[in-house]
Amino acid sequence: SAPAPVSAGSAPVSAGLAARASQVIVGGVNSPVRDFGSVGGTPRFFVKGRGAWVTCADGHDYVDLVAAWGPALLGHAHPDVIAAVQQAAAQGLGFGASHPLEAELAEEITARVPHAERLRFVSTGTEATMTAIRIARAATGRPLIVKFAGHYHGHSDGLLAAAGSGLATLGLPGSAGVTPETAGQTIVLPYNDLGALEEAFASHGDQIATVITEAAACNMGVVPPAAGFTAALTELCHRHGALVISDEVLTGFRSGPAGYWGVEQAATPDLVTFGKVVGGGLPLAAVGGRASLMELLAPMGPVYQGGTLSGNPVAVAAGLATLRGADDAAYARLAAASEQVQAMVSAALTEAGVAHVVQTAGTLFSVFFGRGEVSAAGAGAGAAGEPTLGTAAPVLDYATAQAQHTDRYRAFFTAMLENGVSLPPSPFEAWFVTAAHDEAALAHIRAALPAAAAAAAA
Ligand code: PLP
Repeated sequence: SAPAPVSAGSAPVSAGLAARASQVIVGGVNSPVRDFGSVGGTPRFFVKGRGAWVTCADGHDYVDLVAAWGPALLGHAHPDVIAAVQQAAAQGLGFGASHPLEAELAEEITARVPHAERLRFVSTGTEATMTAIRIARAATGRPLIVKFAGHYHGHSDGLLAAAGSGLATLGLPGSAGVTPETAGQTIVLPYNDLGALEEAFASHGDQIATVITEAAACNMGVVPPAAGFTAALTELCHRHGALVISDEVLTGFRSGPAGYWGVEQAATPDLVTFGKVVGGGLPLAAVGGRASLMELLAPMGPVYQGGTLSGNPVAVAAGLATLRGADDAAYARLAAASEQVQAMVSAALTEAGVAHVVQTAGTLFSVFFGRGEVSAAGAGAGAAGEPTLGTAAPVLDYATAQAQHTDRYRAFFTAMLENGVSLPPSPFEAWFVTAAHDEAALAHIRAALPAAAAAAAA
């Protein structure tokens, strides 16, 4: 039988820590997505994680549906990952020289994603996409890049226009501090709109270096590519001499063993970026692609890129242990947990009469709260042929994602948190399960749902 929901509604220790942090750290957070501005309440300061669970400074336990925004694929503090980190750290934290484990991790990635023929490790997803764009511009000799509204590729200047994630949460169209010259080199188009892409190529075809796209959009909630979109995008780029950058920082090794590329099997990109899971929870990311393109990077070619901490042995050890632990059995557990959470959330919202649609990208998913009346419109297959559950129309792009009922999410989020389930503090984010979300964790979520669904309905 399901355990009784715990009450985690009061968190005075976390509140005190937030007040203290805000005196010395801007906004009290080192990344805006950690702020609770859009959901309200006290941001929890987590001090411990084990498997599917996290513990806040007030001593409350929560089932975690954030998973460190993705990296904790195997669950928090997985013994094999911790052992690998301890072993690596005990030998020294880094030497600023090459280390044997780096090639082992690169081999593990290439074995799963063969079009990553060569890799370069960096420390963040932001650096990975920034480097991919520099390579694309160097390879084509062209200045312009195309990105899609609601996609997030990190916080480099050229990629912040109409970006998802924290900018979507805060309702920002872009970032101050980006020069008009830089912003002017980015063409922003609606996602899943092939006509708009065709028009951009018709007008600027010989100036476009690359189209960068999330393999499946996951930073405005989960919005998979429409059936045929990725293949058509790739064909269009190549016809016009532009390169495709598939950003798998979020989907990589999480949507499935070979990322969303492996799920969709639509087309092969020229360059690909990884982050999050690839570092197992430590700062590590990668850019990869065709050897002929990647070899434009220094020291082989003229494109400069480097990093003091790139390929850090402790981070590489964490990533390697995570990928080695991410075997078929782990992906089966991940998929089962994902499907069960989707089904139980959708059932609870349907029961409470809350219009919603659950969208997936492999094992990734998110729940959009609809504004309209409950209907059967969301049930069945979404635009990508990915199944959708629910009672609201599917979300296809940034405009439809922005039309969601954010107040309903706020009420739902707060009730779930108070009943010991930690969700992303924004309606514009994916939800993350781990391979450690076992029956006890799922039962805990199930117990919290009726009250949260009722709160969302109110
Ligand atoms: N690309 C995608 C698709 C992401 O989801 C993110 C982060 O959420 C990034 C790039 C940036 O990665 P980082 O936060 O490690 O710089």
